[in-house]
Amino acid sequence: MLLHKIAEVREKVKEWKKQGLTIGLVPTMGALHKGHLSLIKKSVDNCDKTVISVFVNPIQFCPGEDFEKYPRTLDADTKLAESAGVDIVFAPTPAEMYGEGHILSNDFLTYVVPPFFYTDKLCGKSRVGHFDGVCTVVNKLFNIVQPDYAFFGEKDRQQLIIIKKMVKDLNIPLEIIPCPIVREDDGLAMSSRNKYLNPEQRKEALVLKDILLNIKACYNSGIKDVEALTETAYKFLKSCHNLEYLEFRDKNDLELKKVADKDTIVFIAVKIGEVRLIDNISLDS
Ligand code: AMP
Repeated sequence: MLLHKIAEVREKVKEWKKQGLTIGLVPTMGALHKGHLSLIKKSVDNCDKTVISVFVNPIQFCPGEDFEKYPRTLDADTKLAESAGVDIVFAPTPAEMYGEGHILSNDFLTYVVPPFFYTDKLCGKSRVGHFDGVCTVVNKLFNIVQPDYAFFGEKDRQQLIIIKKMVKDLNIPLEIIPCPIVREDDGLAMSSRNKYLNPEQRKEALVLKDILLNIKACYNSGIKDVEALTETAYKFLKSCHNLEYLEFRDKNDLELKKVADKDTIVFIAVKIGEVRLIDNISLDS
């Protein structure tokens, strides 16, 4: 069932709660692919009811980013979601979420602002305010849907860590379920933004997983020094790869690591042409 209004979702949720049913929420920006479907499947398998949101959230985009051109494929998304067992596809307009007149500045809108220590690094460094926008919309979705479980991909690992922190700090009564990264056959992490890549760039995009897998192999062979592990990346980089960051950080609090261990996540962001791609790998196991 495709719903656009908050009130309609609330009505359904009220009915389900009365029946004692568990609710899973999968927040998305649409243009669904197999990565999203893995989150949906986990929710459908584990919850009585599943709601997905499809909302390209204006307040998490920085000026000059791809808000306008972000792929919007609601009809196909709805069909795909329903055939995967989703009960509600919630696709509000920006006005439904934030009010008429789109009062989106933090002079007028109450924002949920995660701690600076978590947001001044990695993607937050180049995308100032991005995680404020994410936490604000996710918090609103939690209040609208009141899920027992919410499913987030490890693809956006910094986001996942920040949302877990928000849920803990604000005592939000639900459980966050992390879901592993789903990849194309050649190893590229699936992303709605992969659509922006031309065939040549699509080939070059493999550099992210090449670097991460090589670092993991070096770590497994006994190299633990982060500087030495970082060095191993350079042989993969060409002039068409614009490395934004390659960082080793703790999986719980994003503290920088000097020596890699099983709690280390290696985070990478590379710009290929105008397309910014992110990926990460855990050094555990
Ligand atoms: P998005 O629509 O890009 O905002 O993503 C919605 C959710 O799907 C987020 O929790 C993402 O981390 C997750 N997701 C996106 N791509 C993947 C992927 N390749 N594997 C696993 N989860 C993903």
